[in-house]
Amino acid sequence: MRYDPENIFAKILRGEVPAIRVYEDDAVLAFMDIMPRGRGHMLVIPRTPARNLLDATPEQLSACVNASQRLARAARAGLGADGITLQQFSEAAGGQEVFHLHFHVIPRYAGVALGRPGIMGDMEDIQAAAGQIRTALEAQA
Ligand code: 5GP
Repeated sequence: MRYDPENIFAKILRGEVPAIRVYEDDAVLAFMDIMPRGRGHMLVIPRTPARNLLDATPEQLSACVNASQRLARAARAGLGADGITLQQFSEAAGGQEVFHLHFHVIPRYAGVALGRPGIMGDMEDIQAAAGQIRTALEAQA
């Protein structure tokens, strides 16, 4: 399967589509999912092209997982998350809808079920959660 540079996350990387960014470095970008399945749901993507787990390089995978750990810790500190669900879907049969490698970092709260996919979030609350995560990331540094 071929990487399509017109996918929505490639457009976010190029700045052609807006996103609520929470973390970036030379290798990865992390931004808020607009259809969150838990408060503070983030997506971590490599800056370089990869379709999913099946074609990613070890460097892309390690950069994404290391950033996911940082963001998980920030969600625990900044949002009071009790746990984290880390998800990665590869190919349509695996549940993937956007074909640029991404990891879902979903903060979880005791007694709160994972939300349903595909439901637009409250943008004000997503912005507020992003601010809390950024503050926690600054405190980590
Ligand atoms: P997948 O099923 O491919 O792992 O998940 C794609 C994710 O991207 C979904 O959780 C969906 O809510 C999210 N998503 C889809 N389009 C956009 C977008 O334009 N901006 C952001 N921030 N998230 C998106």
